[in-house]
Amino acid sequence: MSDHRHEDGPRRPGQVKEITSLANPIIKDIKALSVKKNREASGTFMAEGLKLVLDALETGWKIETLIYSKAGQGKPLVERAAARTIAAGGLVLEVSEKVLSSVTHRDNPQMVVGIFKSRWQSLFDIRPKPHETFVALDRVRDPGNLGTIIRTADAAGASGVILVGETTDPFALETVRATMGSIFSLPVTRATPHEFLKWQKSSGTNVIATHLKGAIDYRKADYKSRPVVLLMGNEQAGLPDDLAEAANVKVRIPQQGRADSLNLAVATGVVLFEARRHLLTLADID
Ligand code: SAM
Repeated sequence: MSDHRHEDGPRRPGQVKEITSLANPIIKDIKALSVKKNREASGTFMAEGLKLVLDALETGWKIETLIYSKAGQGKPLVERAAARTIAAGGLVLEVSEKVLSSVTHRDNPQMVVGIFKSRWQSLFDIRPKPHETFVALDRVRDPGNLGTIIRTADAAGASGVILVGETTDPFALETVRATMGSIFSLPVTRATPHEFLKWQKSSGTNVIATHLKGAIDYRKADYKSRPVVLLMGNEQAGLPDDLAEAANVKVRIPQQGRADSLNLAVATGVVLFEARRHLLTLADID
């Protein structure tokens, strides 16, 4: 093994475990995280990419395991991530490219992968404040849609994403990939439809449901006087009646052309940026 020197001082031998075998039990456990049941049982998930892992560490996410390929050996930022992981009581693995490919199911894997503790925000801890916007998703099925929505909600300055009913897992690798790091910035909450309806009654929010039968143009809704919850329907079925009827208003995005509807993530982006139009300026971006 190399002399693992880094900016926080040299690490002691034994702090980095070298693994080249796919049959190694630690690697088997990590590969098992591709199954939702195992992610839930361990309360952990996988995120790829050095910058993303460093940003997550920077913002206080708890890392359990850092894995890097031999190509990362001696690179200062990889060394920094390794030192932080060890300082946090985590495990650091230096693995062959073959092992990293098999863990991430990619031919050209990123050099660094982190296994982090998952975080869920409790629904009844959410007390919306003026100018806050939340996105509530009814039974979202597609990991790419969910990841894109989390990323978009983060970019629009929303305060969280609420998953209502049986949904795809925000901590699945494909979803985490599609969030491009926003999984570490935006709180995610899960709720049954019953819990969501109970919460919305006392939340003081304007619940704006997007619906293909909505009579109001989405540009005419009130996004200013109260915190907003944008309620989006399932990809196939749209919103069920109980959620749609309990909303304060049902809005529609006018369409032309032959498409029946917009893709869920696209519809969310369109309404979300309208909802926050009065709060977003270019001065926010540098
Ligand atoms: N067949 C479904 C239906 O009848 O609602 C289509 C669902 S659409 C693919 C998924 C979600 O995106 C909808 O439930 C709604 O929240 C939103 N959406 C898509 N196009 C929309 C539009 N033109 N106006 C309002 N919401 C829309």
